[in-house]
Amino acid sequence: MSKIFYLVPIAYLHPLILVMTIGVLKETNGETRVSLLPEHIAVLKKHGVNVVIENAAGENAFAFDTAYETAAAKCASRNEVLQQADIILSINALSNTDIDNCKAKILFGFYQPLFNAANIKSLSEKNFTVFSIDMLPRTTRAQSMDVLSSQANIAGYKAVLLAANLYPKYFPMFMTAAGSIPPAKMLILGAGVAGLQAIATAKRLGAVVEVFDTRPQVKEEVMSLGAKFVEVEGAADAAKAGGYAVEQTEEFMARQKARIAESVSKSDIIICTAAIPGKKAPVLITEEMLHSMKSGSVIIDLAASTGGNTSHTKNNDTVVVNAVSIIGNSNLAANMPSDASKLYGKNILNFLQLIITKEGEINLNFEDDLVNGTCVAHGGVITNERVAALLNA
Ligand code: NAD
Repeated sequence: MSKIFYLVPIAYLHPLILVMTIGVLKETNGETRVSLLPEHIAVLKKHGVNVVIENAAGENAFAFDTAYETAAAKCASRNEVLQQADIILSINALSNTDIDNCKAKILFGFYQPLFNAANIKSLSEKNFTVFSIDMLPRTTRAQSMDVLSSQANIAGYKAVLLAANLYPKYFPMFMTAAGSIPPAKMLILGAGVAGLQAIATAKRLGAVVEVFDTRPQVKEEVMSLGAKFVEVEGAADAAKAGGYAVEQTEEFMARQKARIAESVSKSDIIICTAAIPGKKAPVLITEEMLHSMKSGSVIIDLAASTGGNTSHTKNNDTVVVNAVSIIGNSNLAANMPSDASKLYGKNILNFLQLIITKEGEINLNFEDDLVNGTCVAHGGVITNERVAALLNA
């Protein structure tokens, strides 16, 4: 029988106080980024915190062991890191083998608990405290720690460059002695962080850009970047969801699809970024629409990990339908490992300073909304309401 999960009032979450070593693991499964670069170590050292990093952890981001050692971090084997650290930093969740070898009781990374609730349950049962940085409340104070934004910005930029590489024609308009080239027509679905960066990058390359989003408040931002915002009346009000997208009515979705279909048939490139936090991504491009597109067109679907915005997207795979390539790459930030790690590490460093005192001790203040919101498991309890609700369901 499944265990009943419940939320413990903040008052019962006793702060942990201990002096610490931070351990950084080398990522696996083709992940090229690393949680901290050598340039981030000095701040931790100032707090008197030791850093132990797995051998070659930063090499894919061109941060080599010698640079970490110069920054006074210690390089060690994976097992030594797992055994010596009090907090383990990794971008992706630890494997079961790592968990079995891990002495640290605090894990910090991109655990995606709304999609991997069973893993959080298992970690909680093993008494791990888990901070999942993707759960950070997206308030003004949190901006400098917002990993979702820093990495989505890179993904939006890289999506356009990838599309330009794959597209068999020019992006900009040219009038040459050999004839005229019309500009590429780009459609961007979703004008969040990734979508806005995709617009800016596509405009710099000379494409003509049209944009859909269910949040009317992004219209001005879209237009200020030089793109056309296509309005569909009657979207559900996202104000109560803190400005984030919410699921739409069937009626709205039908109207939106009809309007999107018109744009899809004219588009050469589509960048999909439409997502609803914690939910499956909306399917906005149907098979019929794919068949209305010109041969050689390219779709980059950044929403692939949550199902994608097309009927045929496959996560981490490329599918070709009607000579249209659909690239389901949900980790494009890993294609730019140096700057992705630089920004990710700085975000993490900013967050760590909320839970590390000047004397280098861990102080978990669950009355801080950022600490409380990011922590998903502590003291054998699932501390995040949404994750607990998912497990109970
Ligand atoms: P996201 O990745 O969750 O979603 C991408 C976009 O898809 C959103 O703009 C959303 O409205 C849109 N979308 C959802 N369903 C759609 C549909 N059916 N059709 C068309 N578009 C659809 O979003 P994000 O980039 O992570 O951020 C979105 C919001 O968060 C923005 O309001 C942004 O300003 C805000 N934000 C705040 C902070 C902060 O204050 N710390 C940081 C980052 C982002």
